[in-house]
Amino acid sequence: MKIICIGRNYAAHAKELKNELPTEPVFFMKPDTALLKEKEFYLPDFSKDMHHEIELVLKISKAGKHIQEEFAHKYYEEIGLGIDFTARDLQEQCKQKGLPWEKAKAFDNSAPIGNFAPKSQLDLNNISFGLKINGAYKQQGNSKDLIFSFDKIIAYVSQFVSLKVGDLIYTGTPEGVGPVKIGDVLEGEINGKPFLNLEIK
Ligand code: ZN
Repeated sequence: MKIICIGRNYAAHAKELKNELPTEPVFFMKPDTALLKEKEFYLPDFSKDMHHEIELVLKISKAGKHIQEEFAHKYYEEIGLGIDFTARDLQEQCKQKGLPWEKAKAFDNSAPIGNFAPKSQLDLNNISFGLKINGAYKQQGNSKDLIFSFDKIIAYVSQFVSLKVGDLIYTGTPEGVGPVKIGDVLEGEINGKPFLNLEIK
C-alpha cells in the first residue's frame, strides 16, 4: 500500500505557513514504512521541530486510475483520522533549496493512523475533526473548508498514480500546526468522538 498526502488543502493553514493558495491539488507520498498503528511515537533525533498535522484520511476500497470526479465516491467506503508528522525544520531547508520534501515527511512512523468510520455515517461536507494535546485543542477543522473535495482529490491524483485497495489518502491539515515534545498525549476526534490516541516518547 501507499500513502498519498495532500498539501495546502485548507486556506487558513496555507496562510499560517505563508504559502499561496494552490490552483490545483498539491500531493506527495509516504511509503508503507511510514504507517504507525501503535499508540506511541518516538521522536527521531534528526529534527528539532516535529509538527503535528491532523488530517481526515480516505481508505481506498476499489482499484482505479483516471477516475472521474463524479464516480470518485465509489472508490472509498471509510474515513478515518491520521497525523501527517512533519519535520518542519528539514522541510524549510528543502523548500528553500527547491528540493523534494521526502526526508521531512516520509520517514518511518510519520503517518500514525487511528480508527475509521463508514462514510455512510458521516455527512461528507460537514465532518468536524480536531486534535487535542494534553487535553487542550490545538487544531480544529471541518471538511466543509477543504479547498479540494475528497472526490476532486481522487480524480486529480488518479490521473498520475493508480489507486489500489488499501491505499490511504491524507486529505490535508487545518490551521494550528505546531511542535510536539516528549510526554505529550495527542487525542484526535471526529465529530467529537475519539478516533486516535498517541503518546510522544
Ligand atoms: Zn499534511
